[in-house]
Amino acid sequence: MNFKIKILSILVLLSLNCFAMETEDNSDPVSKFEPASQLYQILGTEAQMTLGIPKEKHLPIKQFHYMPGALAMALPNAIIVNENVQNISYGIKRCTMLHEVVHVKHHDAQFFLDLKEKDNVIELEEEEHRIRENRADIQGCYAAQCFMCVHEFSKARPENYDQQGYLTSGQVLKIAEELKQQNKICAYHSN
Ligand SMILES: [Zn+2]
Ligand SMILES: [Zn+2]
Repeated sequence: MNFKIKILSILVLLSLNCFAMETEDNSDPVSKFEPASQLYQILGTEAQMTLGIPKEKHLPIKQFHYMPGALAMALPNAIIVNENVQNISYGIKRCTMLHEVVHVKHHDAQFFLDLKEKDNVIELEEEEHRIRENRADIQGCYAAQCFMCVHEFSKARPENYDQQGYLTSGQVLKIAEELKQQNKICAYHSN
């Protein structure tokens, strides 16, 4: 499994456990998280509608501050956003929400939880991470239907090939170019 993802997953799980212990409550700690700010609520709802998640299955968008280096993560029962990450452009926020909702659509978080129950799956896990991050980036960028959003999002992606499966900034810019040719632009960027 990729080192960065592994560390991040462990840190998030540890923080979730600490939170549960602090509140001396065995119920799901995520249910007690504060809702994320209004813009993330709007973008999260928009993303879930765009990607065809039925309204009754929409996940709440919550704040979670203990994800070093990560802006958001899709859990089985919530999308959590790290609002400590500052100076993030609108396009990065919007495409990130779309990326997370692609994970929701394909039940990626649950898939990895189920996978953890099995033995000797590290290689499979690495490969599945690559496939699922790659799919979330590609489907998320096209779902944005805005060349400006996707252009901004390219700054949140690595310059070179990434083992975790994320698109490179160059690959994201190619999608932005394609959307530009089709004059795709969102309401925010057309004003
Ligand atoms: Zn992802
Ligand atoms: Zn836009």
